[in-house]
Amino acid sequence: MLLGDRNCLLLCCSYCVTMSTRIYDCFMTEPSQPAQLIDRFGRTVDYLRISITDRCDFRCVYCMAEDMVFLPRAQVLSLEEIYTLAQVFVELGVKKIRITGGEPLVRKGVLALLQNIGQLAGLDELVLTTNGSQLENMAAGLKEAGVKRINISLDTLDADKFKVITRTGDLHQVIRGIHAAKSVGFKRIKINAVILKNRNHLEVTDLVQFAIDNGIDISFIEEMPLGVVSQHDRSEAYYASDLIKADLYPHFTLIQSLEKTGGPSNYFHVAGTQTRIGFISPHSENFCSSCNRVRLTVEGRLLLCLGNEHSVDLKQQLRANPGNMALLRQAIVDAMLIKPEKHEFNIHEQPVILRYMNMTGG
Ligand code: SAM
Ligand code: SF4
Repeated sequence: MLLGDRNCLLLCCSYCVTMSTRIYDCFMTEPSQPAQLIDRFGRTVDYLRISITDRCDFRCVYCMAEDMVFLPRAQVLSLEEIYTLAQVFVELGVKKIRITGGEPLVRKGVLALLQNIGQLAGLDELVLTTNGSQLENMAAGLKEAGVKRINISLDTLDADKFKVITRTGDLHQVIRGIHAAKSVGFKRIKINAVILKNRNHLEVTDLVQFAIDNGIDISFIEEMPLGVVSQHDRSEAYYASDLIKADLYPHFTLIQSLEKTGGPSNYFHVAGTQTRIGFISPHSENFCSSCNRVRLTVEGRLLLCLGNEHSVDLKQQLRANPGNMALLRQAIVDAMLIKPEKHEFNIHEQPVILRYMNMTGG
């Protein structure tokens, strides 16, 4: 079942049919050729993000409502279903998978799932995004399971502010988690910090200094309007990447880098250190033309764009036709034809996208 913009579908219908046939032919009739997922704008999709749970031990103010209702178990993909889908995506040319959530490390059985996905032939990189709360105990297991890199969310170094932003989190637990990840040998650990005006914008220099002191990277993220949040006005809290750069320039020498890690970050090196600073700027610097990724939501919806609702229900496909991998592959190949050209975020309006980030997989 295809969901999405009907006008777009009608307009590009004949083009889509041609492209669909070409892409499918390419995959089906030339099995010796490496399979590839290509959308109608010529972008190759080789990066999949999977939200393996909508649950979380934190309630970050930009991500969730305070009184979140989580999905009943039957609506959530099982670990076996997630593995099957990951396998099919890798067969279709996906090289990088990021496991995320919700908080992925609170899902029972996550280590075995990671281990299995990490062994898929053809997958170059299995990576993880976590809030860090469970890392102290799980870092070693994640390394053993084959996770290559970890992004850890950390918006402030002030314990009280951390509690206010996450509503339930403990800063010290997360810091211990970061140290645990370092000590078991994870390289290129990265902090993700969502910066909100008048909440944590005065901390960008301290956060960069923390990254330098720990030999890790950091990305600053502009808040995206996903789901209705109650604690702040997103328009008022918007703090553009350029403002962050201006705050950092007096303290650090930033050298623009052409390096890419397969994500939307624009990177700068901090001169004289190992640290890179990334800026994820969905509002001030659109990165859609180089988008290489799709997302599998916790409900098994293949979401073609974070900032649109175009999607395909892969769980329904999987459950209605157990074992029929050809149908599943075809549904994924066809889905590329409704991947939108760009996101439609407008931080100054009420969110059009009612799904929260925890379901989507940030
Ligand atoms: N729980 C894990 C964590 O916090 O790292 C993984 C899931 S979380 C949804 C993934 C990333 O999305 C985090 O870095 C978080 O800061 C970011 N995020 C959540 N809501 C966001 C929003 N509305 N705008 C921008 N980033 C957001
Ligand atoms: Fe949980 Fe991550 Fe969302 Fe915070 S950002 S509420 S830690 S899923």
